[in-house]
Amino acid sequence: MEYISTRGKIGKIGFIDAFMMGLADDGGLLVPSEIPVLSETTLKEWQSLSYQELVLAIFSYFTNGEIPEADLKEMVAASYGTFRDPEVTPVRRIHDGLYLLELFHGPTFAFKDIALQFMGQFYSYVATKQGKKIHILGATSGDTGASAIEGVKGKEGIKICILHPTGKVSKVQELQMTTVREDNVLNLSVEGNFDDCQRMIKELFADLDFKSANHLAAINSINFVRILAQTVYYFYSYFQVSKATGKWEPVNFSVPTGNFGDIFAGYLAKRMGLPVGKLILATNENNILERFIHEGVYMPGDFRMTYSPSMDIQVASNFERYLYYVLGEDAAQVNRLMEQFKTEGEISIPEEALRKVQSEFAAYGVDGQECLDTISDYQAKYCYLLDPHTACGVAAVEKCTDEGEINISLATAHPAKFDEAIRLCGIEQKFPAEISALFDKPQRQTLVDGKLEDVVAELDKFYNA
Ligand SMILES: *Cc1c(COP(=O)(O)O)cnc(C)c1O
Repeated sequence: MEYISTRGKIGKIGFIDAFMMGLADDGGLLVPSEIPVLSETTLKEWQSLSYQELVLAIFSYFTNGEIPEADLKEMVAASYGTFRDPEVTPVRRIHDGLYLLELFHGPTFAFKDIALQFMGQFYSYVATKQGKKIHILGATSGDTGASAIEGVKGKEGIKICILHPTGKVSKVQELQMTTVREDNVLNLSVEGNFDDCQRMIKELFADLDFKSANHLAAINSINFVRILAQTVYYFYSYFQVSKATGKWEPVNFSVPTGNFGDIFAGYLAKRMGLPVGKLILATNENNILERFIHEGVYMPGDFRMTYSPSMDIQVASNFERYLYYVLGEDAAQVNRLMEQFKTEGEISIPEEALRKVQSEFAAYGVDGQECLDTISDYQAKYCYLLDPHTACGVAAVEKCTDEGEINISLATAHPAKFDEAIRLCGIEQKFPAEISALFDKPQRQTLVDGKLEDVVAELDKFYNA
């Protein structure tokens, strides 16, 4: 198994090189050279595996034989050993048609921990094995930053810098990132929104001289390893629900979506043979992807602040991976469309491709009031407190499915991270001790305005310190 770029000018390269490259050097995204397809027999055998065993089983198809099994096993054990639930990603039944896949039992209480705790271990492994300096650079709408910092703080050979949009992350998200004391961590609070942060990161990674001179490494979902780690819980939750219902039939997944990373992992699981019915793409008012699925036009609109800030994204960096597959793995066409997107700010796909999109995805954009109403409803009806992102996923299930279908809705964050929205529902929640403790700690962050050269100046100081 090797890796190639969606724009056709990189590859084939190995697993560790793909991990270290992050964004492909031709500006595209890396994808596996072929997608392994698993038989029903294999999948049924996997039903009895623990979460950690399942990670190893799935990764074995993707690592190109580059990591000795004992090393991988050790990294996986360390990555998920810090989770508060022995199942790592347990599934909760709400009613016969709806299960919640709880992805928030890691150290920073959001689903980003699943991939980023592993990537932290993996970067540390590469730094040690290859004696490499690694400078992780990323943008966050709140959760990625906290999780990535947690994964590598204090680690030898690694520095991490995270850009977040000033005032556009929740208080708990900000505290999780900025109360970390280790010197290998730099938080840049950037005037602007998440798209501005992500664009600067992409520009720095696209400058290949800057990238190699500064040992840049990516933790955003432009990194394929992040996607891969996230495919695991689609399999795991399918198996748990199948055991509960005694059925082996297609199940829908509803995914609160921002950068299209998580739902792309679900698409990959489906391509690998998991019986996935509809992939339901749930957005908030930043609904560029909903419009793409309904109309085949990909065109960012005006940025909106919502109750679900981790999904306040207009330009979904991972979308290009799906575009590559839906256009029949035609790198030249992807190249053309992405060039067009850069100059014209909008692209549309052919009618035939749109039909394919609509056979695979449903989509629904949830507005603010509906998000809050869903939180209140589920608290009243099921005594289950949804976070505002998860509420978007659940509201989309109600809109996009019929009686009798079985749905797994991804619970992407713990409600304590987004108390601002929970309070608006008139609900008072009790914080987990780890989160309460954050409010007493001093914060460290550097404010910069939205200019690339100011970010570069801060990076220079940090890397040369
Ligand atoms: C990041 C995030 C999302 C969106 O995931 P993508 O992979 O960017 O689509 C949804 N919910 C929460 C809580 C998140 O942190």
